[in-house]
Amino acid sequence: MSEFHNLMDNNLFRGRIFFDKSLENLTWLKVGGKASCLYIPKNREDLAVFLKQIDSKTRINVFGRLSNVLIRDGGISGVTILIPPSFSEIEIHKNNKITIGSGLLDKNVSKFAFDNDLGGFEFLSGIPGNIGGAIAMNAGCYGSEIKDIVEEVLILERDGELKSYNNEEMHFSYRNSVVETDQVIIEATFQGKHENKSSIKEKIDAVISSKEESQPSKVATGGSTFKNPKEIKAWELINSSGLSGYKIGGAMISPIHNNFFVNTGNASAKDFEKLGEFVIHEVEKYHGIRLEWEIHLIGDSIDEI
Ligand SMILES: Cc1cc2nc3c(=O)[nH]c(=O)nc-3n(C[C@H](O)[C@H](O)[C@H](O)COP(=O)(O)OP(=O)(O)OC[C@H]3O[C@@H](n4cnc5c(N)ncnc54)[C@H](O)[C@@H]3O)c2cc1C
Repeated sequence: MSEFHNLMDNNLFRGRIFFDKSLENLTWLKVGGKASCLYIPKNREDLAVFLKQIDSKTRINVFGRLSNVLIRDGGISGVTILIPPSFSEIEIHKNNKITIGSGLLDKNVSKFAFDNDLGGFEFLSGIPGNIGGAIAMNAGCYGSEIKDIVEEVLILERDGELKSYNNEEMHFSYRNSVVETDQVIIEATFQGKHENKSSIKEKIDAVISSKEESQPSKVATGGSTFKNPKEIKAWELINSSGLSGYKIGGAMISPIHNNFFVNTGNASAKDFEKLGEFVIHEVEKYHGIRLEWEIHLIGDSIDEI
């Protein structure tokens, strides 16, 4: 990591940099090891300067609010980049289009659209995380997804150069896109549609109340653990395999929503991974369907370091 110490000494950039920084309290699951080098850029110019200094062999991982990741207990080597709230510029254009910085929370994107009589963004009021994370994941709920509203995405490539991707080039699919772990989404332009406030508010309220009724709240969780297979919901498969409330160490399958795992207080990342692998095994045994992780598993296990 001496290359990064040199960067700091030379005052080349203005972001914050930490070494051996624990990520545990930053993640929604409240588990995980340390980032060998954690970098929080001040702005996009700063980030571009930083990326240009990084050796092409160094592993880079980019995150937003860490609401969709399970960081293993052994932590993450290389460089970990967190996109901060300062990447939250908003610009409104003609024809109901808006450009949003990747550090803005999804619920604030929905609020901004509401304030400006723009429909199509209501589903974002139920999703935690940054809009950058939502784009990378093609996040969605209740029949709407990011791919329905994105027009163009601006990405900082690992060589520090900006590149624009249109909707087609993003190759959105179910909870996935073309974005690799070392590409940084900087901003995106969305196409909304003019709608009156009362109609938008009705939809936002419906999203929020459905979420409150069906999902655990005020607990450490990572949201949906597995992708839904085509014909059936993952929670139904887990439930009918008799696993509601099942626990390994401090990691538990939420009895409120069986596709949500929760940290009962003292879980390790290993507990969550073991619980996930156990669920995959049991569901396949009972139903012949192999569940696929939706949460991204990142980093090294303790026994690997
Ligand atoms: C309680 C709860 C409910 C949830 N409900 C939903 C839901 O209804 N629908 C849904 O789709 N998801 C849901 N999620 C999952 C999660 O909130 C979304 O996937 C969210 O969009 C992730 O944003 P983030 O900023 O936290 O991303 P992170 O978790 O930090 O990162 C997720 C992935 O995106 C990539 N990424 C993040 N930011 C960037 C960036 N700027 N540039 C490039 N890549 C980036 C990372 O590489 C990583 O692989 C839920 C999670 C929780 C905890």
